[in-house]
Order: sequence, then structure tokens, then C-alpha cells
Amino acid sequence: MAAGTLLPCPNCQSTAVYSVKFTWWGGVLGPKMLNHTQCTNCNTTYNGKTGKSNTQGIVVYSLVIFAVVFLLYFLFFGGLT
Ligand SMILES: [Zn+2]
Repeated sequence: MAAGTLLPCPNCQSTAVYSVKFTWWGGVLGPKMLNHTQCTNCNTTYNGKTGKSNTQGIVVYSLVIFAVVFLLYFLFFGGLT
């Protein structure tokens, strides 16, 4: 009934799962956006809302972050020497 209830692990069906608060690929914002959830039983990570893998979301998220950083870099240090 509680809001934000997470789906059980898609790999082992365990309900001993938790929301990931921080990841190397997304900081604190990425896992929040993707409802990134990890199973304490088998360490599978997935989307706690849809029960699907977050791999595609992580790739897209990483590419967007990379593009933004790349753009900012050229805005501030652009090749107009
Ligand atoms: Zn599991």
C-alpha cells in the first residue's frame, strides 16, 4: 500500500531489495530517475517500478551526462584561442 513500493527481484523473486541512493554512473540523480533498485540476496540491479533491467537507461543516462560535460567543457575552454 505504501507509496514507492518496490517490485520484488526479477532474478530471484526476493523482496529484500532497496533503492540505490548513489551509483558511480549517475551520482545521486541517476538512480533516482531510473528507480534503481538492488536485491540484497543476489545483488541484481533493476528498475523498481517496472521490474526491468536498467542497463539501457544507464547507457542513455551516461551518454547524456557525457554530452553535457563535453559541451560545457567547450563552452568554457573552447578552441577560440
Ligand atoms: Zn535477487
